[in-house]
Amino acid sequence: MHNTFIIISYLITSTTLKARYQKRSLAVLMHGIFYERRFIMAIYDPKSLCADEFINDEEIRETLKYAEENKNNVALIDSILQKARPRKTETGCVCSGLTHREASVLLACDIPEKIEEMYKIAEEIKLAFYGNRIVIFAPLYLSNYCVNGCLYCPYHLKNKHIPRKKLNQEEVRAEVIALQDMGHKRLAIEAGEDPKNNPIEYILDCIKTIYGVHHKNGDIRRVNVNIAATTVENYRKLKEAGIGTYILFQETYHKESYLRLHPTGPKHDYNYHTEAMDRAMEGGIDDVGLGVLFGLELYKYEFAGLIMHAEHLEAVHGVGPHTISVPRVKKADDIDPEEFDNGISDEIFAKITACIRLAVPYTGMIISTRETQAVREKLLRLGVSQVSGGSRTSVGGYAEKERPHDTEQFDVSDQRSLDEVVRWLMENDHVPSFCTACYREGRTGDRFMSLCKSGQILNCCHPNALMTLAEYLEDYASPETKKIGYEMIERELKKIPKDKVREIAARNIEQIRSSNRRDFRF
Ligand code: SF4
Ligand code: SF4
Repeated sequence: MHNTFIIISYLITSTTLKARYQKRSLAVLMHGIFYERRFIMAIYDPKSLCADEFINDEEIRETLKYAEENKNNVALIDSILQKARPRKTETGCVCSGLTHREASVLLACDIPEKIEEMYKIAEEIKLAFYGNRIVIFAPLYLSNYCVNGCLYCPYHLKNKHIPRKKLNQEEVRAEVIALQDMGHKRLAIEAGEDPKNNPIEYILDCIKTIYGVHHKNGDIRRVNVNIAATTVENYRKLKEAGIGTYILFQETYHKESYLRLHPTGPKHDYNYHTEAMDRAMEGGIDDVGLGVLFGLELYKYEFAGLIMHAEHLEAVHGVGPHTISVPRVKKADDIDPEEFDNGISDEIFAKITACIRLAVPYTGMIISTRETQAVREKLLRLGVSQVSGGSRTSVGGYAEKERPHDTEQFDVSDQRSLDEVVRWLMENDHVPSFCTACYREGRTGDRFMSLCKSGQILNCCHPNALMTLAEYLEDYASPETKKIGYEMIERELKKIPKDKVREIAARNIEQIRSSNRRDFRF
């Protein structure tokens, strides 16, 4: 039986991607037959399309053992840190990234000077590939109907005291207008899994509505989608609807815990959930966003699983995750974070963030308003490149004058307005960016990565960030934010290396200030 399994694994993984997809049906067939045995004896293979093989429990345990044995091995740690550093090339800057084993050694290391060095390198990488820009977005909750039983989420089916709500298209419009009036250009839509209340047609209608709203000078230029794992056919429909990133949090990579934390509903199927990004990519979606919910399982296990997932995407599809989110379990209706005994301190959280930055240097990192201003401030220095701002996590929350709490998915720790977040970023020398140019110019997947590596970031992202910031300042900012913003734009324009690009950017910003012309981009 063992040999048969090895042969099947080999057949599934040893050919080109196209052939691999064809052979996938064989894997699915065998999955039923060998399920019990495979749970015990799956063999690690980053190129496999089977979750038990690319997120392999035995490999993670071996990794954690190796990391524990080497956590004080200074020579090894120094060599890993050396490998992680960004290196200048003739055309730009490159970074090797780290394997899950190397990154796990750093995460296990408790030597204070080495941790400081990790933080320093994380900041260097962030500046090399993202500069001092921070992309801003907001979540938009469409529906909290859900048929799943996730133990950490207030929308779970058995929660009978949370009001259930689903926006109709008029209400979606009202939410989008409220978001545009704040200054948002990029949204992440969220909905529970419920084939009856939230079928794919409903999600597609909402996307169409969102892109169709043009209120005053506002528009939403990129809709990222955070919905349950689905079929290749549905991912294709999402791609055709023009979504940006498809985001799906793994929650936990630990299979036994996953099954316990998701006792009922379609999400209970660990393999179907974990293999979702492969189906999304098969459906034509180039940009996918990973994430785990820290606090559910031991963080070292989750970390290794997360990096292995990134390695798997790179190995199979030739492009890693577009983003990684780092949420922690938070208080919510019917949910007490104290019930999850794997909570992590702010210090460990910072170390995880820095180690992710070192391991996957080209991947955007997202921190939401789940975290306080102080935590966000620290993580921004360690590699985070995107933040949400002015968020409301209830269904229909933006159109309400006062922040509603009845349908919130989690308590928002950072409750500042978008204007306050924008000003705070600038006061900390980060350029708030509302740029969506790559998506609009078709620079997704590996084309986006090439931009990252080409050294053209300062000639492309930087002017785009400044032009979109000027739009924000002109249309939505308070007088104080506007003043700080234009001072920053004047300083930052000087950093654009190419004279021609600098002149065009300055001219466009002048037009934004003196007219209603918008949406300039490189
Ligand atoms: S985490 Fe998602 S799938 Fe689970 S109960 Fe909440 S909304 Fe539903
Ligand atoms: S140009 Fe592309 S990579 Fe650069 S900030 Fe804009 S969207 Fe991001």
